[in-house]
Amino acid sequence: MTFASAPRFADLTTMGVGGPSDDYREVHSTPDLIATVQEVWASGEQWLVCGGGSNLLVSDEGFDGVVIAPRSQGIRVVDELGPQVIVQVDAGVEWDALVEHAVATGWGGIEALSGIPGRVGAAPIQNIGAYGSEFASVAVGVEFLDEGSEKAATVAAVECAFGYRTSAFKEGRVGIVTSVTLALDVGGYSAPIAYAQLSDKLGVPLGSRIEAGRVREAVLALRRSKGMVFDPSDPDTHGCGSFFVNPVVSADMLALLPSGTPYWRQPVEENQSTVIPLDALATVDVPQRVETAPSSVKLSAAWLIEHAGIGRGFSLPGSGAAVSPKHTLAITNRGSATAADVVELAGYIQTRVASEFGVVLQPEPRLVGLSL
Ligand SMILES: Cc1cc2nc3c(=O)[nH]c(=O)nc-3n(C[C@H](O)[C@H](O)[C@H](O)COP(=O)(O)OP(=O)(O)OC[C@H]3O[C@@H](n4cnc5c(N)ncnc54)[C@H](O)[C@@H]3O)c2cc1C
Repeated sequence: MTFASAPRFADLTTMGVGGPSDDYREVHSTPDLIATVQEVWASGEQWLVCGGGSNLLVSDEGFDGVVIAPRSQGIRVVDELGPQVIVQVDAGVEWDALVEHAVATGWGGIEALSGIPGRVGAAPIQNIGAYGSEFASVAVGVEFLDEGSEKAATVAAVECAFGYRTSAFKEGRVGIVTSVTLALDVGGYSAPIAYAQLSDKLGVPLGSRIEAGRVREAVLALRRSKGMVFDPSDPDTHGCGSFFVNPVVSADMLALLPSGTPYWRQPVEENQSTVIPLDALATVDVPQRVETAPSSVKLSAAWLIEHAGIGRGFSLPGSGAAVSPKHTLAITNRGSATAADVVELAGYIQTRVASEFGVVLQPEPRLVGLSL
């Protein structure tokens, strides 16, 4: 992408808010990415990685430092192991372009992650997930340049501490993902269908493995109906996806909540639809793996928001931000929002849920120069 002047985060992010990025550097190969990052680290300047900007919320003042935008584009088969192929994908590849390529090539395993905006380098950061699938389930390793050691090395998947919308990289292991290595199935079949709404849509039982292309089409249709496929011309999609993560609380805390509050037991049960009402399931992503104490439970952030009296489409007076008309968990820019508008609405939702239920919702996107 070329910009006539310093780009604004309003142009770089799917929320469409945020001030200038005065030193913005797109980097088109892994060696250049490593060299750029090392140079920036040696200079001692502040730095920030911007992939597709779909999980990033930057203040209206912008970011005073170097913004590094990985745009490397390789997809390489590095090994073939009978029924599986090992594929290394550069950080700059668009995630959904990878899924489309995989399905077209007959590689199964990531088709349920169709339609998630952003680039491959960000996929391990919050362990992207949707429709019963997550990045961790196909990850072999993450090629990572560590700020601590300044060395590039492969972090094996077992060392990435993947959990529900989290990883070691989100929790303090600072650096930059240069590529990821995935194990995908050959033969064109999907991973087992692991989400009730998706199996209903496809008309197949949970656990079925079917043509990966059918799963991709069904997931894209479901996501579009919820405004979860980014479309520059559709304000319902101008957000960060789910704005809040589903809170994990102790079983003791659950006992203090009103009867009928839906929850997932930890570790997550196989068939969540027996625990969460279907209308709630329709509005939340279902996590697949959470490393938490067995005495904890996960609540539905969407249910808490709705039952705190905040419905779809809700907006504060004079604000350009609103809860999505299609999805309670998404905050959207209706066209004129500022970062301050988004944070004000998020803070309002957080306060309402906290005063109603005593649960403090935490944001899913990375906030830069902003706090909740
Ligand atoms: C409409 C919509 C639907 C969405 N649906 C889902 C969903 O179903 N499931 C889901 O999990 N997410 C979803 N998201 C959130 C988002 O798409 C994902 O988190 C995605 O992985 C972000 O990728 P990105 O390239 O845009 O990252 P950015 O927003 O650019 O960055 C996010 C974070 O990752 C860091 N980062 C980015 N690239 C790198 C790198 N190479 N190395 C180190 N750090 C890096 C950034 O510094 C930042 O902290 C949705 C977002 C939108 C707008």
